[in-house]
Amino acid sequence: MLVEGNYRGVLVFAEQHEGEIHPVTFELLGKGREIADRLKTELSSVLLGHNVEEKARELIYYGADRVYLYDHPSLKHFDVVLYKQNIVNLVKEEKPEIILIGATPIGRSLAPRIAAALNTGLTADCIDLQVDENGDLIQIRPAFTGNIIAHIKTKTRPVMTTVRYKVMKMGVRDERRKGKIIKKKVEVIDNTGIKILRKEKRKEVNIADADVIVACGRGLKKPEDISMIEELAKLLGGVVGASRPLVDEGWISKDHQIGFSGNTVKPKLYIACGISGSPQHLAGMRDSNIIVAINIDPTAPIFRHADYGIVGDLYEVVPKLIKELKKRGVRT
Ligand SMILES: Cc1cc2nc3c(=O)[nH]c(=O)nc-3n(C[C@H](O)[C@H](O)[C@H](O)COP(=O)(O)OP(=O)(O)OC[C@H]3O[C@@H](n4cnc5c(N)ncnc54)[C@H](O)[C@@H]3O)c2cc1C
Repeated sequence: MLVEGNYRGVLVFAEQHEGEIHPVTFELLGKGREIADRLKTELSSVLLGHNVEEKARELIYYGADRVYLYDHPSLKHFDVVLYKQNIVNLVKEEKPEIILIGATPIGRSLAPRIAAALNTGLTADCIDLQVDENGDLIQIRPAFTGNIIAHIKTKTRPVMTTVRYKVMKMGVRDERRKGKIIKKKVEVIDNTGIKILRKEKRKEVNIADADVIVACGRGLKKPEDISMIEELAKLLGGVVGASRPLVDEGWISKDHQIGFSGNTVKPKLYIACGISGSPQHLAGMRDSNIIVAINIDPTAPIFRHADYGIVGDLYEVVPKLIKELKKRGVRT
């Protein structure tokens, strides 16, 4: 087990897809910068891929003091075994005290493998990170299906954390920032046992990045009625979200699910139609800028979190909103 010793600095895993850095990386760099400054230490980032050197500079603009670059054709596509092995090599050499990884599908598959190889702890799905008076990282995440917020301190080093996308502010981009790009030798493993058979088509909807979400819950009577929610969402330039029961029923795909076991969202406008406001649903949308709730029950918990509440039947309210928007010349 790795115990406290010469571990220093914060390391952020820079996730990239086909050469594009995933925005969660910039959020982690923002938080990582804050932690590194507080601990008076350095912020580094590790980037793996092929022909991605250009992107390493972006990581410096967003706050990294140094970027460890692993650039090789074998790293073009994400292979969890290769990525893990090279990051483990780096951690053994550089001994960062804290490692931050996005809680994306890639991060969720990579982080536990790195932690297991290093025999260290991992706190998954954090929603905030703080540094206490002793300089220890406090990892904050929902527990017991979102009913309590746990504050977790890890004894082993490095401290490894995955952080949800969209829960932290992005770092500030500054092209004047200076930093070092350190090219690392890539360990190539000929056969990792993983073969890409085909690429699945992109997600139906990128709900995490939407500015407007019109979400529906069990207040809907049948799956066909989602088209009404979709019409309102389109008129507002947004996308459809859903509570988990609708996903469990197979009415809509999991990409649309919002909440504890779905997506975390932070749109400018969130309209909840026929959603009660369970803690598990709120966990995924309570940080939305403006929340509008439409619910037939005036005591529904969602109203306690809404900026605007409409007590009424969504089958009357939603068509009225659609009609009003159309009257004002808004078109889908
Ligand atoms: C481990 C775990 C993880 C979970 N993860 C998630 C998650 O990620 N996301 C999630 O959403 N849930 C999640 N849940 C489920 C969660 O506990 C709730 O069951 C769920 O959020 C309820 O969905 P709902 O609000 O659509 O349904 P309900 O709670 O049944 O609420 C329906 C609402 O519709 C209103 N209504 C009914 N008819 C109308 C009408 N005609 N017009 C207007 N309003 C109407 C009712 O008044 C009611 O408030 C999870 C649960 C567990 C145990």
